Amino acid sequence: MSRKRVFIGDLTRKEFREGIDSGTIKAAIVPTAATEQHLEHLEMIHDTASVAYMAEHAALELYPKVAVASPIAIGVSEHWMEHRGTLTVRPEIFTEYVYDVCDALKRGGITNILILNGHGGNVVPMMNRIEDFRRRLGVNVRFNSYWDTYPTDVVYQYMEREALPGHADEYETSMAMALFPHRVHPDDMEMESTARFGTKEKGEALAPVAVKGVAELLRRMIEGEEIDLEPRTFRAAGAQSMIRDHLIEARSA
Ligand SMILES: [Zn+2]
Repeated sequence: MSRKRVFIGDLTRKEFREGIDSGTIKAAIVPTAATEQHLEHLEMIHDTASVAYMAEHAALELYPKVAVASPIAIGVSEHWMEHRGTLTVRPEIFTEYVYDVCDALKRGGITNILILNGHGGNVVPMMNRIEDFRRRLGVNVRFNSYWDTYPTDVVYQYMEREALPGHADEYETSMAMALFPHRVHPDDMEMESTARFGTKEKGEALAPVAVKGVAELLRRMIEGEEIDLEPRTFRAAGAQSMIRDHLIEARSA
């Protein structure tokens, strides 16, 4: 049985080299995420498992044009260190590590790089550096979280709590139920938690929308389009720009 392989670690060096030299591989994804507390009922690898799923399936949609770097599974999670087991690195270490991975891809012949994020704590550190990355690398490098690609109406159609991604809440619980149910521990879900709004059906409806959105973003990158897709979060008040709400504040601090 042959399996379509998109993770760089699953390719031989011959396969990667030939994919680049023939012009078959046109882009790469660098998944960034976290290993951090996800309340009592989700496993701490949740963000990494979900972004790896999105990266793999978006790459499969465009197969064989996109290769996926090994996910960066420890991100900026200082804000959860009170919950033991959370792993974190300093923002400057994290962003420089991501930079070096992008640089290695560039040296391997990749000219379109999507840093695809699955953890909210990484957004502001990366947004503060992405322009500098682009200048230093001299290739088409972008940073977005996979949820940035959701059409606003789809989010509010499914999310009763009107929040996405949230944290181990309705959305992430739904995604885990749909994508990796063995990582959900319902007996440990807190009684009062709004994670109880999570369902497998919501995850099954929303996961393919994000996969398609990420694949479309990559397709447009490969075609050399200028893309204006802001990092954002969805709240009851509506879709909110991460740049407007957080980045300016972080820069002036
Ligand atoms: Zn999460």
